[in-house]
Amino acid sequence: MTLDIRNVTPFVYRCPLDEPVATSFGTMRDRPMVLVRVEDREGAVGWGEIWCNFPAVGAEHRARLVDSVLAPLVCEKTFASAQEAFEHLTRRTAVLAIQSGEPGPIAQAIAGLDIALWDLEARRAGQPLWKFLNPGAAPNIQVYASGLNPTNPEGLALARQKEGHIAFKLKIGFGIERDVRNLQALRTSLGPAALLMVDANQAWDVRTALDVLPRLEPFQLQWLEEPLRADEPWSEWAKLRERTSVPLAAGENIMGLEAFDLVLKSGVLSVVQPDIAKWGGFSGCFPVAKRIIAAGRTYCPHYLGGGVGLLASAHLLAAAGGDGRLEIDSNPNPLRTLLSGPVQTICDGKVTLPDRPGLGIEPDAVHLKEYAVSWR
Ligand SMILES: [Mg+2]
Repeated sequence: MTLDIRNVTPFVYRCPLDEPVATSFGTMRDRPMVLVRVEDREGAVGWGEIWCNFPAVGAEHRARLVDSVLAPLVCEKTFASAQEAFEHLTRRTAVLAIQSGEPGPIAQAIAGLDIALWDLEARRAGQPLWKFLNPGAAPNIQVYASGLNPTNPEGLALARQKEGHIAFKLKIGFGIERDVRNLQALRTSLGPAALLMVDANQAWDVRTALDVLPRLEPFQLQWLEEPLRADEPWSEWAKLRERTSVPLAAGENIMGLEAFDLVLKSGVLSVVQPDIAKWGGFSGCFPVAKRIIAAGRTYCPHYLGGGVGLLASAHLLAAAGGDGRLEIDSNPNPLRTLLSGPVQTICDGKVTLPDRPGLGIEPDAVHLKEYAVSWR
């Protein structure tokens, strides 16, 4: 069955935050979300989500990229599959990506559109995406509670533990004394069985990382995420790998099959974290996930956004298999909770995906009006 897309419609949403979130790359005053809806000649529909967290003004720009650049390309011909559409979009925007200096936003917009095309294909086939991608897959995945900020992280972590989480990721890089105090507080509150990870969000250089690593080692961390800048050569990361027992993780800032192959070849990462809404969609990230697992590494989807992209990440993890965990933000965000249905029922650190076709969600049946932003 071919893909003959007639309509591509992006939507922008913003949910105000009570407390702005400060990061090293800017302040978030709201949680943004860009959804994209595709419809084929017969009226079959699919939904995707485009990563748009930074810069904070960027959501409307992603929607305009879809509207003005990608929609005409996806509607100009029929495709044998979503995979073929992904390759067409990537090829036809390659020069624009260089000329505009915007390979990131263009890749993100293509990724979200790709999710929508796969959702449409799976719905048409009457299968949930995890099964459509891999008929031999099981619908159960492991999850973890992410986004624990450095102020009173144990309060939020305890609330998530009560909801069924058993694994928790703390943001660090706020001075090693504060980081260690927070890890101790988490260990004390959550108990000895809780699994802990940390994310430094590219905070350190090699020397600082080597200085602080001995302080992190006693906490038996599942992984240390992005201790260095993501554009540091893998030979620099190897210096950490050689000197510590803490498994290293990265991937949310890696783009392209070749780049993932390179890091797998280097052997420095134990945990690899592609973001399905940031690069690749299912077409790019399913092959990458399979290569990560074949290389003996752990595939853990990176994700921070609304519920549609979270569901896509969940389906991809279920299809890929392995021992990885799905990242679920711990902080309140109705754009996530209103749209991610089954992913919110957590039992002993696990989630079961339903048998509903596609991603299993109808965003137009969800009341999102109060968050909608007009951007045209
Ligand atoms: Mg991270």
